[in-house]
Amino acid sequence: MRLILLGPPGAGKGTQAERLVAKYGILQLSTGDMLRAAVKAGTPVGRQAQEIMASGGLVPDAIVVSIVADRISQADARKGFILDGFPRTVPQAASLDQMLQEHGLSLDAVIELRVDESALLRRIESRIAAMKARGETLREDDSPEVLHKRLAAYRAQTAPLVDYYARKGILRPVDGMVDIPAVTAAIEQALTEHARAW
Ligand code: AMP
Repeated sequence: MRLILLGPPGAGKGTQAERLVAKYGILQLSTGDMLRAAVKAGTPVGRQAQEIMASGGLVPDAIVVSIVADRISQADARKGFILDGFPRTVPQAASLDQMLQEHGLSLDAVIELRVDESALLRRIESRIAAMKARGETLREDDSPEVLHKRLAAYRAQTAPLVDYYARKGILRPVDGMVDIPAVTAAIEQALTEHARAW
């Protein structure tokens, strides 16, 4: 199975991807995690991405596309994967279509986690405050200011993908504002309906 999890920052893509990985035994490919690993390792990609990520902007398409292309050519990706945080722009989606086609593969579904943006902001801000109060380490881009910028980037550059995948008939919208197990159940339901439709 090959899936995309689409949704704004803080919508729960990472959490849901982990739960789907456990259930379906496929890989979670998070471009955010890959880029953070590159930053930590101080690779050339990491050095290019560091400041952009810290400010809440999007890393150039060519960089992310090449990271994903490398990753999905590896043997363990053959059993399927969940893309978490990729694609984030229409050109990234077009590149993904092309690379999947080259491998003779296609996407099964794009799960759109739908959230109410102001409720999301309140939820994230209180999570950040609670983590700070507990003395936990926060991600560099986990501040209310950067979060506003990440949300703006989502609206301007990523939200058009909702239409892009709706037109392909593979978009599955799911309410992301209910609790974590309920979101997982709704995703599983959407995937079952998809399987039945075939
Ligand atoms: P995430 O962990 O998915 O929220 O990603 C954290 C940050 O990594 C984002 O705010 C971007 O700066 C960068 N990033 C992750 N995935 C992408 C992508 N597909 N395209 C561009 N930038 C990305």
